[in-house]
Amino acid sequence: MQNIRIAIQKSGRLSEDSIDLFKECGIKLDMGKGRLKSVSSNFNAEFLFLRDDDIPGYVEDGVADLGIVGENVLVESAKKVNLVKKLGFSKCRLSIAIPREESFEGPQSLQNKSIATSYPKLLSKYLKENGIKANIHEISGSVEIAPSIGLADAVCDIVSSGSTLLSNGLKEVQEIFKSEAVLIGNKNLSAENKSILEKILFRINAVQKAQDNKYILLNAPNDKLPEIINIIAGMKSPTVMPLAVEGWSSVHSVLEEKAFWEKIEALRNAGAQGILVIPIEKMIL
Ligand code: ATP
Ligand code: MG
Repeated sequence: MQNIRIAIQKSGRLSEDSIDLFKECGIKLDMGKGRLKSVSSNFNAEFLFLRDDDIPGYVEDGVADLGIVGENVLVESAKKVNLVKKLGFSKCRLSIAIPREESFEGPQSLQNKSIATSYPKLLSKYLKENGIKANIHEISGSVEIAPSIGLADAVCDIVSSGSTLLSNGLKEVQEIFKSEAVLIGNKNLSAENKSILEKILFRINAVQKAQDNKYILLNAPNDKLPEIINIIAGMKSPTVMPLAVEGWSSVHSVLEEKAFWEKIEALRNAGAQGILVIPIEKMIL
């Protein structure tokens, strides 16, 4: 059986989480120093380690079958590939920033200004939608220094915490695009590669589901059980087992991370004791 070829970033902000994702899916990959390619020893996959900017093009051309990139790079590249799945890591935003001392009264403040960016397509789409004419200066890196060296009045750049902007005397004034890492795929995958992709997606879903949930164990007096079970209706219904002490039970269930603290509080108020919360490694429904 042939290997599916997966392009991931060689080194950068996507690399570690991309590698971890495949590891958590039980797909081994060796990422030796300076290697450009690695064949998995336990799965029909080989990995290509590339610059992130090149990944959409390689996936479009079929040099790689799948790839992981930031949505910002995907959309900016305008390559024709399938967005297979959002992966939930490397979350960031593309924003307009201007010198700290200047004011911003909405998009019209950018009229006839010059804006430095590595994302000319995303920026011009935003400007067009808002009926603004501005001069876009495309530069490939260190965008944030452009205003201080007199190259541009504003920048349009990737932000996560905003500390890089701050240390360059800039302030974020307008978010124009939200991004996270995405799995992309060639539009004409072979039947064989489609079935390998299905396997990968099944595993990614199990890993993501597990990350969103926790296993919970607690003790409760039997007369409180109906109320407690009502709070933590899990995947099906909770497991209830008698404790050695008369009149008490142990309750096991699965809780969603997002409602977690509210539920823990409600459980304590309802009389639950000895609450244990345990991470789940994989979750197959
Ligand atoms: P390469 O050398 O591969 O071209 P790069 O320097 O272009 O790398 P990185 O800085 O590693 O790219 O960022 C890769 C992607 O990670 C970005 O396109 C974006 O989607 C995301 N990203 C960038 N900055 C951050 C951040 N501060 N926090 C989270 N995600 C980010
Ligand atoms: Mg890059």
